[in-house]
Amino acid sequence: DKTSRLLIISNRLPIQLTERGSKVSMRESDGGLVSALKSYFDKTATSNLFSEKIWIGSADFPEERWTRYKAKNTGGATFEIEPLFVPAKEYNHYYNGFCNATLWPLFHYFPSYTEYSDDTFKSYEEVNELFSEKILSILKPGDTVWIHDYQLMLLPGMIREKRPDVSIGFFLHIPFPSYEIFRLLHNRWKERIIHGLLGADLIGFHTHEYVQHFLDSVQRTIGLTHKFRQLNWQGRKVKANIFPLGIDYEKFHDMPDTPEVKEEKKAIIDKFGQLKVIFSVDRLDYTKGITHRLSGFERFLELYPAWREKVIFILVVVPSRQIISKYNERRKMIEEQVSRINGRYSTLQWQPILYRYNTLKFWELNVMYQVAHAALITPLRDGMNLVAKEFAASRKQQDGVLILSELAGAAHEMTEAILVNPTDKNEVAHAISHALGMDHGEQRERMIELQKRLKKQNVVNWVASFFDDLDAITKAQRNAV
Ligand code: UDP
Repeated sequence: DKTSRLLIISNRLPIQLTERGSKVSMRESDGGLVSALKSYFDKTATSNLFSEKIWIGSADFPEERWTRYKAKNTGGATFEIEPLFVPAKEYNHYYNGFCNATLWPLFHYFPSYTEYSDDTFKSYEEVNELFSEKILSILKPGDTVWIHDYQLMLLPGMIREKRPDVSIGFFLHIPFPSYEIFRLLHNRWKERIIHGLLGADLIGFHTHEYVQHFLDSVQRTIGLTHKFRQLNWQGRKVKANIFPLGIDYEKFHDMPDTPEVKEEKKAIIDKFGQLKVIFSVDRLDYTKGITHRLSGFERFLELYPAWREKVIFILVVVPSRQIISKYNERRKMIEEQVSRINGRYSTLQWQPILYRYNTLKFWELNVMYQVAHAALITPLRDGMNLVAKEFAASRKQQDGVLILSELAGAAHEMTEAILVNPTDKNEVAHAISHALGMDHGEQRERMIELQKRLKKQNVVNWVASFFDDLDAITKAQRNAV
């Protein structure tokens, strides 16, 4: 039936609403989730299950601007947009508080960075409640709701309480930690979170481990056991399953050489000449392992002096969550380390690290993915890590080497990378030497395997398999009633 509507729920709306003079204009952002869904709907235009698609998220623009926009414009392009206006102070407690000072560090195995505050948890409940009210005011029988990520874990339960009939999917984009970590949350919070998630029909995770950790935490928190990843909860079936997020493979692999790209590629190749380029890009986040990575690179220069003046490490750090002190501290640490290493090893002709603290334009990122000899991606924890996948997809010549942390979700599907433990600077140093010395035949063999899998398990298939699974569960659910 093509009459059912899809409601997509994420913390932030995937749009920018800008104002120039009296004209308000809307631009869709090209973030991962939006382009994933867009390409899914493009490629399944005639067969997809939904008659309407509505995106609900919190607005980062004033309500009054939206009112003026709505007065002159009807309907979105791919998605109908429904903004939720959360008062600034409350949003701050929820987002910078419970989301990013409690759940984010804890779920990434940084218990010592985790703050435990009843006040921010209360804001988390309140904002989830605001989302729930908004959604309930829009929901119709037969609708499908797809809720995204750790900011909204209470929401499936809140909707379910009022609407037993709708189909609810939830996907967690970050790791689900082992119970020994999860249990550090206050008991009431844990119960609320587990009950919240169990409101969904389908709960998706990137890896097998995350699913196991979740099921284990359900059992140990509320005593409910699963059978083949299925739970019976309040007379309903709830399924937990694995959906490793993919990328839009062709967007990277078949990126056309625009004049801009061509010129910049040539400029970089001319500039660095014979130097081997090691590249990394991450948001500024303590989970990304940037300081450990720098120690690994320094160790490499120490252990392999023959590589000095023959290599350059281009380290791009993208600003993120600057209000939170742990993020600012991390920036200082990185910058001190970069200048110390550069101070120690630079010569008059050469500097080992080129550091940039900024966002990259899409074509700049693409150029770097294409010209680097090796990508050095070493998070201490990462739900998935798309940068690793994008780098491999971008290698049209099927050369180049990926060095990847075994603690990134992506490591499960990218076993042809050189996998490292990011905390071991000697291992990282050896991996860099291994990568730079790898012959072309081996680079190619590894890259071909990586690309095959990325092409097959792309983002369109990710969306499709989530919907297929959700559809099957919903049908079984309805037949059982
Ligand atoms: N990216 C970006 N701007 C930049 C650099 C990177 O938008 O200046 C993108 C990159 O292409 C990738 C995403 O940001 O799709 C990062 O995703 P990842 O899973 O690696 O890490 P996250 O930031 O989600 O933790």
